[in-house]
Amino acid sequence: MTNKRGMLIIFSGPSGCGKGTVLSRFLAERTDTVLSVSATTRKPRPGDVDGVHYFFRTREEFERMIAANELLEYAEYSGNYYGTPAPYVEECLAAGKNVILEIEVQGALKVMQTCPDHVSIFVGVPSIGELERRLRGRGTEEEEVILRRMAAAKQELATAEKYQYLVINDDVDKAVLRLQAILEAESLRYNRMKTNFMEVMNNA
Ligand code: ADP
Ligand code: 5GP
Repeated sequence: MTNKRGMLIIFSGPSGCGKGTVLSRFLAERTDTVLSVSATTRKPRPGDVDGVHYFFRTREEFERMIAANELLEYAEYSGNYYGTPAPYVEECLAAGKNVILEIEVQGALKVMQTCPDHVSIFVGVPSIGELERRLRGRGTEEEEVILRRMAAAKQELATAEKYQYLVINDDVDKAVLRLQAILEAESLRYNRMKTNFMEVMNNA
């Protein structure tokens, strides 16, 4: 049977809404889905591992990647570059794995234009106050960075309407179930099923 191409999943939401928490819970149970590792010029946080959480790069190195056309998308967010290395994404999709891009909205809008066959999900929070509590509660950012991220959050929330799905992360377990439900339904779209289905029909 022909290998079914994986789904390209755009997963965005304001910093601190819980994207990483939901994804790590979701991915722990999935062997058919991988997370793309981005390149960034931001400094590693305690616990961040180069090549696992991000590829940490200097601005010069990052700009070299842009010039060499190595990125599927990139954006400047809160004073740093972030971008998705293209080859890994393509290899995984071709091998039939779903790939999740956990990216901010400017990059997400670019992927929506350049890769029409995508699934886009925006992660929202129950309230702005709760977002700030989570961002502060994580304890990984300086006050100035928190204020910048809260300002960015207001603009990001206004772009939620550009996405196909909205998952409110009021509860991690429920958010994981919602993500599972979206991917299950998306994988059953006729267009994604048809190659295998036609093979079955032709051999009947
Ligand atoms: P993001 O990856 O979107 O920046 P994180 O996954 O790092 O966000 O989550 C930010 C903080 O919020 C973390 O301390 C995390 O434990 C907490 N958090 C995540 N989801 C929830 C939730 N549903 N309810 C309460 N706290 C949450
Ligand atoms: P953080 O510094 O908290 O790890 O990430 C900050 C923001 O950058 C988050 O909204 C995250 O989703 C986004 N981000 C991470 N990697 C990429 C990427 O490759 N491209 C884009 N456009 N955004 C990214």
